[in-house]
Amino acid sequence: MANPSILILPGDGIGPEVMAEVKKIISWYGDKRELAFDVSEDLVGGAAYDVHGVPLADETMAKAQEVDAVLLGAVGGPKYDVLDFSVKPERGLLRLRKEMDLFANLRPAQCFDALADFSSLKKDVVAGLDIMIVRELTSGVYFGTPRGIFEENGERYGVNTQRYTESEIERVARSAFELAKRRGNKVCSMEKANVMESGILWREVVQRVHDEEYPEVELSHMYADNGAMQLVRWPKQFDVIVTDNLFGDILSDCAAMLTGSLGMLPSASLGAPMENGRPKAMYEPVHGSAPDIAGQGKANPIACILSFAMALRYSFDQGDEATRLEQAIEKVLADGVRTADLMGPEGGTPVSTAEMGDKIIAALDASL
Ligand code: NAD
Repeated sequence: MANPSILILPGDGIGPEVMAEVKKIISWYGDKRELAFDVSEDLVGGAAYDVHGVPLADETMAKAQEVDAVLLGAVGGPKYDVLDFSVKPERGLLRLRKEMDLFANLRPAQCFDALADFSSLKKDVVAGLDIMIVRELTSGVYFGTPRGIFEENGERYGVNTQRYTESEIERVARSAFELAKRRGNKVCSMEKANVMESGILWREVVQRVHDEEYPEVELSHMYADNGAMQLVRWPKQFDVIVTDNLFGDILSDCAAMLTGSLGMLPSASLGAPMENGRPKAMYEPVHGSAPDIAGQGKANPIACILSFAMALRYSFDQGDEATRLEQAIEKVLADGVRTADLMGPEGGTPVSTAEMGDKIIAALDASL
């Protein structure tokens, strides 16, 4: 059988630097775990604009549609801020999400014990935290029509439309239930059914998908405003949260920052299953291209490496190997190894991007 395929799109700024460490880890799995991947690499964002005059070439888009998973670094940078909107680096990212129809955005909030002091919340509230927010990504109020700024009786008004079809809710609900089965078997669905018809439909459809297809998963419903409060009050009550595009945008940022640094946050965007049963998938760190530290070896590669761990778990059915990688990271952090962004007030000497990657490889070796 052919090896699973990965398309690497390092992008701009610190993207190539953090991706270099992921490449080492991919090679480690081939060498030490007989888990070989067919890896190809291409350009996205400003790097693609420099060569092709567009932030994502058609050939790259076609490759992304064929592979089992896309790994993306980050795009953007001051050099490209002056470009026309249509060719800005971010457009490359949006094109990938749209044409691959990546409707489920997975944002974990996982707190490594060694970093629990980094949270703005009390240590016992976040230590051991491991939750997953599933945000609907391709519909809802960011896309619904009518939209625009109009004028009536001499006064302007702005309109956006929250619109969800049953099938859009069904598919993201299924993603959440499938994830829950591989985790704590619990889903909490968040909307505002008390004041929004789209929320009433959301709640009804999630409940139906549950009753018909996933009765073994524990399901609860919560109004999204209460959900925001509960996330800050006692986040460990949740396992998987599923919510719409707008609420998910806000709740996932809130949940992610419970755990501290931007350099630690991975994400996945999943679409419909392909012929081989794997979902269309793109994995990327939450952070951007960090132009302020690019080229200095200061970037924390962990967010990007954790994104690859998500690929192992959700695209390649290698949950045990994903756990091995996460535990290697946990071990390195517990040993006090820190990139500059993770330095506490007590100070110390930070390691470089490459040194952090090497320490994680050493911890992987030690796990065998
Ligand atoms: P950013 O995430 O790039 O940086 C914010 C801050 O966090 C900076 O101080 C940066 O040094 C730090 N930081 C980010 N990642 C880090 C890491 N791995 N290790 C250590 N420190 C890290 O956000 P920004 O400054 O608002 O945006 C910079 C550029 O990135 C812009 O062009 C923006 O459009 C783009 N951007 C891209 C993405 C993406 O590719 N998905 C996401 C956000 C921003």
